[in-house]
Amino acid sequence: MRITVIGGGIIGLSCALRLAERGARVTVRTAAAPQDTTSMVAGGLVYPRHCEPENRTGRWTAVSVAEFRRLAAEPGTGVRSVPGRLLRREHRPVPDWADAVGGMIRRTDVGEPWVDALEFSPPLIDTAVYLPWLAARAEAAGVRTEYGHVESLDTDGVDLVVNAAGLGARELVPDETVVPARGQVVHVADPGLGEWIVDEDDFTYVLPHGE
Ligand SMILES: Cc1cc2nc3c(=O)[nH]c(=O)nc-3n(C[C@H](O)[C@H](O)[C@H](O)COP(=O)(O)OP(=O)(O)OC[C@H]3O[C@@H](n4cnc5c(N)ncnc54)[C@H](O)[C@@H]3O)c2cc1C
Repeated sequence: MRITVIGGGIIGLSCALRLAERGARVTVRTAAAPQDTTSMVAGGLVYPRHCEPENRTGRWTAVSVAEFRRLAAEPGTGVRSVPGRLLRREHRPVPDWADAVGGMIRRTDVGEPWVDALEFSPPLIDTAVYLPWLAARAEAAGVRTEYGHVESLDTDGVDLVVNAAGLGARELVPDETVVPARGQVVHVADPGLGEWIVDEDDFTYVLPHGE
């Protein structure tokens, strides 16, 4: 089967690798190299936030967490399991996906303005290491990459097209419901933090990535 994957971020490269491993002839067509995608600037914490539909989120999370834990045991992937806390300012139940991340401990000894904290140890990905590793693995599996802007989802000459265009799907599909959410990333020297912290309600992250 011949497959075109549009997009060379984490979703496109992951799809391309899996499909190639199953014997498909895969070409990634992408406007940007992995290091120039949104995927490169992600904090890299693996847990579902604002993810829908909720009844499928737990299963997706369990599969992803199991895969990233496996990669954490491989050298050079940029994936680690790191303990940390989700700080919360309002009373809410422990999420349905708690088991999918290996379980959580709820603590109430957190101090204002927070009412509790959920402790767990999800995978944390250093994207600057992981994306080049993933691209190299896809190439080794036979995935070809072509650079350039794709104008349509037409299947000319291939059996299947995978849309992994991220925000580019707004014009490509077109789908006006696709809108960006802005985040600002500040890189500072890591004094040796052993934990991550996320404030779930103002959505500030502190994520240790070594250097
Ligand atoms: C500041 C910030 C922090 C984040 N932190 C986290 C986090 O901690 N955990 C988490 O899970 N997520 C996080 N995210 C979200 C995460 O980064 C994205 O969900 C993810 O990177 C999306 O990957 P993608 O492969 O779908 O898209 P992208 O990485 O955007 O890749 C899209 C690809 O499609 C290509 N493309 C688009 N249109 C076309 C076209 N017409 N023709 C050819 N190519 C095209 C682009 O060139 C690019 O290669 C964060 C995002 C931001 C901005």
